[in-house]
Amino acid sequence: MSVPLLSVQDLSVVYPGSPPVRAVEGCSLAIGRGEIFALVGESGSGKSTVARAVAGLVRPAQGQILLDGVPLEGLRGAAAKTARRRIQMVFQDPDASLNPYHRIGTSLAEPLRVRGIKDKAAIEARVSELLAMVRIDRALLDRRPRELSGGQKQRVAIARALAMEPELLIADEALSALDVSTQAAVGALLRELRDRLSLSILFISHDLLMVRHLADRVAIMRGGQILEQGVCGAVLDAPAHRYTRLLLDATPDLARGGIDLDAEEALLDTEGDVA
Ligand code: ADP
Ligand code: MG
Repeated sequence: MSVPLLSVQDLSVVYPGSPPVRAVEGCSLAIGRGEIFALVGESGSGKSTVARAVAGLVRPAQGQILLDGVPLEGLRGAAAKTARRRIQMVFQDPDASLNPYHRIGTSLAEPLRVRGIKDKAAIEARVSELLAMVRIDRALLDRRPRELSGGQKQRVAIARALAMEPELLIADEALSALDVSTQAAVGALLRELRDRLSLSILFISHDLLMVRHLADRVAIMRGGQILEQGVCGAVLDAPAHRYTRLLLDATPDLARGGIDLDAEEALLDTEGDVA
């Protein structure tokens, strides 16, 4: 078997304090190239902590995280920087990742400058490409975040992450604050980006409906541990764990097949989420 893009092995994370919080305990998972892996669980189950550890924002107390088989912890200098670039995050609140005073064009040009692209024409071309990827109209380039809808802002936040040319995108509740039809449209966009860019996505959500339609594999978390994981349809159709069944029972639409992402593809256009 080929080496997965991301491998999390026996990860534990402890937040300091009195008493210290064991937020994640002994979690292992692997994400292949072009795979969408969902992490599901109630609030406080440790999903964001796994994401933070993978993104290098918190240090594991135990275990390791490997990118292409290479442990992140051992990396220093340029190699560490490159590994960090390959993993990008999108959060629930797009306002947190967009400067309210910057025009959209400026927000997208900034990560390109950070990456060392100096040529103005090259930056403009790349910004246009990024906008097209997330299906945002060029007319919005000169707007500020407050002039955009929630869905448009989240698309821009995704474009900003894509500017770093990541191989793994972590979407931590990135759809959770959006209204239902916009969630479907941005969800379809994530799937499209996976297909076009062979992007791997760690999709964190408490929405089993969206997970079912988006994810290839799923892990169910509770109390800092992974209770079960496997192919999405298999886990959700025949959960091994009682807790997973409880989660499913709390999502009645899932039994009826839920929403149809393919039917929502039409909403990919920006008309789908007007300000
Ligand atoms: P989720 O994303 O699933 O809601 P989190 O990973 O945010 O869960 O949190 C897991 C546990 O760690 C929770 O008990 C939470 O209260 C705790 N926690 C999260 N962040 C911190 C922090 N910075 N300091 C202390 N405890 C934290
Ligand atoms: Mg969280």
